[in-house]
Amino acid sequence: MKKYKRYLITSALPYANGPIHIGHLAGVYVPSDIYTRYLRMKGADVISICGSDEHGVPITLKARNEGVTPQQVVDRYHSLNKKAFEDFGIAFSIYSRTSNNVHYETASDFFLTLYKKGEFVEKTSEQYYDDEAGCFLADRYIMGTCPHCGNENAYGDQCEKCGTSLSPNELINPHSTISGSKPLLRETLHWYLPLDKYEGWLKKWILEDHREWKTNVYGQCKSWLDQGLQPRAVSRDLDWGVPVPVEGAKGKVLYVWFDAPIGYISATKELTPDWQKYWKDEETKMVHFIGKDNIVFHCIIFPVMLKAEGSFILPENVPANEFLNLENDKISTSRNWAVWLHEYLKDFPGKQDVLRYALCANAPETKDNDFTWKDFQARNNNELVAILGNFVNRTLVLTNNYYEGKVPERGITDENDNLVLQEILRFKESVENSLENYKFREALKEAMNLARLGNKYLADAEPWKVIKSDPERVKTIMNIALQITANLTIVFEPFLPFSMEKLRSWLSSTHYSWDDAGKTDLLNPGHSIKKPGLLFEKIEDEEITRQINKLLATKKANEAASAKTVQVKDPVTFDDFTRIDIRTATVLEAEKVPKTTKLLKLKIDTGIDVRTIVSGIAEYFEPADIVGKQISIVANLEPRKIKGIESKGMILMAEDNDGRLVLVAPDQKVSNGSIIK
Ligand SMILES: [Zn+2]
Repeated sequence: MKKYKRYLITSALPYANGPIHIGHLAGVYVPSDIYTRYLRMKGADVISICGSDEHGVPITLKARNEGVTPQQVVDRYHSLNKKAFEDFGIAFSIYSRTSNNVHYETASDFFLTLYKKGEFVEKTSEQYYDDEAGCFLADRYIMGTCPHCGNENAYGDQCEKCGTSLSPNELINPHSTISGSKPLLRETLHWYLPLDKYEGWLKKWILEDHREWKTNVYGQCKSWLDQGLQPRAVSRDLDWGVPVPVEGAKGKVLYVWFDAPIGYISATKELTPDWQKYWKDEETKMVHFIGKDNIVFHCIIFPVMLKAEGSFILPENVPANEFLNLENDKISTSRNWAVWLHEYLKDFPGKQDVLRYALCANAPETKDNDFTWKDFQARNNNELVAILGNFVNRTLVLTNNYYEGKVPERGITDENDNLVLQEILRFKESVENSLENYKFREALKEAMNLARLGNKYLADAEPWKVIKSDPERVKTIMNIALQITANLTIVFEPFLPFSMEKLRSWLSSTHYSWDDAGKTDLLNPGHSIKKPGLLFEKIEDEEITRQINKLLATKKANEAASAKTVQVKDPVTFDDFTRIDIRTATVLEAEKVPKTTKLLKLKIDTGIDVRTIVSGIAEYFEPADIVGKQISIVANLEPRKIKGIESKGMILMAEDNDGRLVLVAPDQKVSNGSIIK
């Protein structure tokens, strides 16, 4: 393995049009933070770069919908997310943003360098233009009818109802969402990055030289390369973003996928005047942490940009994760189907490590995974509390009880002691090996296995029994248990930084370096430790139920919102309307129609007669509840036989969004047979 002088870790820039959720954390930020913390413990020269991605059409759309400026939208989410990351212990060296000046200059310069080198292809194409608003329309600003499913609210790039991706000219009856007018096709000039020109180079660089990349990443790259690459526009007609810095480019900005990854470079510039050594020296190892939706940008497009520019290094690895689902449903910002980080931090104060643990233990490293609140609770109660917390607590409490908190001498060790002492070193190596290979779940599992080993050791050695017969022996046992505890503060530090800080304070120990792991003399005899608190607390069912109910409420709200608004029917004349005889009536008797689930047989008083009506409302009304109620009926509907019963008329009902039926009745009692008009 090549030795590197320094590390440049980047984490996908979160899009500043919504808060951070657990999917982002599990996919990108928790693994990047674990890796960064591990490298820092090794004493490596490492910087971790992130920031808000603040350009692009969704932000301008959101701003328009809310009647605020795009800058106000990004300001809101930038500060919300920056703070949430800090509070969650994600140890970025800098959390920058792409709307600041350094970034504008850097992205502009980058474009100009490629422009001057003749790397771009200029091309004119026809695009939709809104004559009333006087601007070109991004795909998202065009709506129309989906040619596949007939959804009348399909976007120019996608129909959200049937999920088909579209291009604006496929839409039936396209209209601009800005002015509502019909858009016109008009010619516009754009700059394209000729990815096809770099196809051969990419094939060698990825498919031959980086066979070690994760299979999901390698596979996606291969499929892109096998399909053949096309030139890709790097500019857009839009008024929000980094202006294209050449003559004749008024009203054009850099396309967000071109500008966003340059954000890593500008953030590094903002962090240190020494930024070039991280970006331009072959002895730097650059690693991009991203989610799978970003693979093409970080493995194909950004490397082509860097290669075309010529003075930058390329990523050594791109350990992208798959997606995390929530309670068996895709996480979605627009549907509010997520566990939001800023809300979690409020709902579970001081429990950052529990979420870090649950997300890493269940990380979607090789396939999509599911987060459930039950699993979260089980990880906490059965692993953090019952294994790690339990071992640490027993060790520290016994040391305090037997030796007034002073670390005892290790005397003669037996065969089992020696085995355990050797194991400590093996754990260090296996955790390290997994971390180096971006297998964070495996690394975490191994760290927990060290705590398991500690528990087993205490259970086998039974110091609480032996103390009566052989107190000397107990000194050895407790010394070894304490060395395991000190090792735990090291191997768990990248994963559970808050808890390990607590544990170190109880041990009165220093912040060990990674290479101290495996040592069995970290705590010297005579060293004083403190009385411990609880490292983790049990999470009760109520707290989990509260979270699940929150999600259920979201689900209900979504269902109501997505319920179809039924189109108004064709017009009828007033004469047609007056032919329908609608009247008030009262229910006299009601009974279920045998062998049916939906039908009620009702005897009603219409003021003119007493008649029978069969109605499909049995799922919503108990017969006893409906008797005596005043209702509205269509009195002159042709009689029909339903299940052998002659039904004369129809009861009027309103159907709610969720399909629930409600009686339509006069709001004050009137005589039966009153005409409704
Ligand atoms: Zn559709």
